[in-house]
Parts: sequence; structure tokens; C-alpha cells
Amino acid sequence: MAFRNFKMVGYVIYGRGSFNQLDEILAPHRKGNAPMIFLVDHYFEGKPLASHIPLKGNDKIIFADVTYEPKTTYVDDLANNLKQEFGTVSGIIGIGGGSTMDLAKAVSLMMNNPGSSADYQGWDLVKHAGVYKAGIPTLSGTGAEVSRTTVLTGPTKKLGMNSDFTPFDQIVLDPELTKDAPVNQRFYTGMDCYIHCIESLEGTYLNEFSKSYGEKALQLCRDVFVNAKEWDDECDDKLMMASYAGGMSIAYSQVGVAHAVSYGLSYLLGTKHGIGNCIVMNHLDEYYPAGVKEFKLMVEKNKIEIPTGICKGLSDDDFEKMMNVSMGMKPLWENALGKDWEQIMTREKLRALYEKL
Ligand code: NAD
Ligand code: ZN
Repeated sequence: MAFRNFKMVGYVIYGRGSFNQLDEILAPHRKGNAPMIFLVDHYFEGKPLASHIPLKGNDKIIFADVTYEPKTTYVDDLANNLKQEFGTVSGIIGIGGGSTMDLAKAVSLMMNNPGSSADYQGWDLVKHAGVYKAGIPTLSGTGAEVSRTTVLTGPTKKLGMNSDFTPFDQIVLDPELTKDAPVNQRFYTGMDCYIHCIESLEGTYLNEFSKSYGEKALQLCRDVFVNAKEWDDECDDKLMMASYAGGMSIAYSQVGVAHAVSYGLSYLLGTKHGIGNCIVMNHLDEYYPAGVKEFKLMVEKNKIEIPTGICKGLSDDDFEKMMNVSMGMKPLWENALGKDWEQIMTREKLRALYEKL
């Protein structure tokens, strides 16, 4: 058996206010006049954070439109425009939720790789390192800050650019940046982390490395979504570390049923990652009984509505499309159900699950 030898993030800084050190963090990575490009979640346009970005010379802020989750066409446009405007850049700094961080990783890679980002959707297809890239989360949960992938919707699939070149060179974990996240969004993205933990801990790929991080992340999720009396700074601190540890857990295992099914939803219906996972998790008692029970408790305790009936009225053709995307996520199914997963998760069974959502 071959053990995965995985690439991790280069540098990590954690703490309230650590964002203020960004200027000195970036200084050694500036290459002559080549600018730093700050790709910032459009939520922050006109907000104080945008005016605290340490701009130098011809640095540029680009507000990322994350109305939809990242598409390969958007990544290509951003990278091509930067090449045209500057030739080369010193680095790409992504500031935002999982969508913005993924965009930053992908744009960094596409600055140094030819063709379209769609050519690199898959495992280990990226040929060259990207330009310097840093990730600064403003929402906690996806683990995109530590992962070796960037999830993109392309012309034919929703799949990441998974590679050793994908992880950030630097991440800045400043929980203060998450304080204004809307309650619902915070919950959906937080549940992404909770679900990563359940899928990792209940999966067949589990080892002690994954388990150690997964258990810690799960405990932190419980602290904030079950035990906290009300949301406070400590909750933001904890959820940011939960996201990191949850990401580390799946780095050495894999996600499972909720993600495999929710990818189909987001491909066909554009359902967002966090809420899509919640919609699916709500119906996974058969696979993750204890996790689903606790998930429902957290939904209730935090007074969150999980949409239902989203697959009503879909055609056979639509169901086929979703099932094809979902069934394509082989490692996820194998982690969840074992080597014989195809005998367990038949197309009939998957169809019945989609019809319940
Ligand atoms: P998001 O980045 O899509 O953002 C959701 C919404 O929150 C947006 O409207 C955004 O503008 C807003 N927002 C962000 N920060 C805010 C703040 N501090 N205050 C107020 N609003 C804020 O949401 P997400 O759940 O963080 O990320 C989901 C994305 O992450 C998906 O595209 C998914 O595919 C990706 N993802 C990637 C990985 C990975 O390993 N690369 C893992 C999981 C998910
Ligand atoms: Zn996820």
C-alpha cells in the first residue's frame, strides 16, 4: 500500500488582528514592480477591511463576484486579464469565503500554466507551480485554506484542480474577519466543517492522523453550535480552528455521502456547497445515524431553516445528470461505503435519495 505524501500550506499565522501583519508578511514576496493582486470577496466592497489592505505601488484590489461558486471561465478571465495588464504579478491574495480562496488558488495556478483551468480539473494534472498565493478566510468551515484543491464548475464537470501546487504558500487566520458573517451563512459554512468531520471519522480511509484532527474539529463545532449560550468572539476563534482541523482531517482521508450527493445538486441546480451539504445531510440517517441526529439538533438550536423539496418536478434527464456527477466521485463513495460501494449505492438507491431532497 502506498501512503499519501501530501503537500501542506507553507506558512500559517493565527490570531485576532493578525491581518494587520499582512504588509510585513508580503514584503519578502514582492518581485520588483510586479504587483500583489488582492482578490477580495465582493461583500467587502466599501467595508473597512478593504481600506486596511496594504497596497503598494501598482498593487490592485479586484472584488470577486461570488454570486455563483467559481467557474473555470471566471478563473480564465481573471488570469488572462492580469497577464494582459501586468505580464506577471508578485502574488495573488485571496480574502473571503471558500469561493474567493478557491478563485485565488486557481488564478495563481493559471498565471503559470497554459490553456484553460478546465484542462486541469482532476487529480495531479497541473504542471507548473503558480505565482505566490495567500489565503485569508472571512468565513469558517470549508477548509479551503488548507486543502490541495480548488473546486471549479467547468463546461463538463464540477471538480477541483487537485495538485501539490494548489495549497497556499501562506494563510492568515484572523477570526476577527468573520465577525459580521450572517447567521445563516455562518451556520451553512460551519456545517460544511461538521460534515467533513463526520464523513472523515465514519469513513473507511480513516487513520490516526485524520482522526486526531477530525475529533478536535468535531468538538469545536459542538462547542459553538451546541454548547455556546450565544455567539461571541470565542465562537469565531473556535470555528476558525475547526475549519483548519477539519480540512487537515480530510487531507488524509476523504469526504463521503453528503458531499458526493451534494455535488450533483450544485452541478445541476447551482445549489451552494454549504447549504447543499445540509440539504443532503438531513436525509442521511441510514449512513451517519449519530451525526445526522446531532446535525438536526444543531439546526433546531440555531433556528436555521433547511430547504426541502428542491428536486420536485425535475425530469428523468435531470436526475440522470445529477447521478452521473455524483457517481463520478469514486473516492468519496469508496471512503464512505468501502471497496464494494457500487453494490451498496445502486443508481436506484441514489435516485430515491435525490427524490427525497
Ligand atoms: P462563499 O465563499 O461562497 O461565500 C458565501 C457568501 O458569504 C457570499 O455571499 C460572500 O460574499 C459572503 N461572505 C463571505 N465572508 C463574509 C463575511 N465575513 N461577512 C459577510 N458575508 C460574507 O462561502 P463558503 O461556504 O465559505 O465557500 C463555499 C465555496 O467553497 C464553494 O465554492 C465550495 O466549492 C468551496 N469549497 C472548497 C473547498 C476546498 O477544499 N477547496 C472545500 C469546501 C468548499
Ligand atoms: Zn465541504
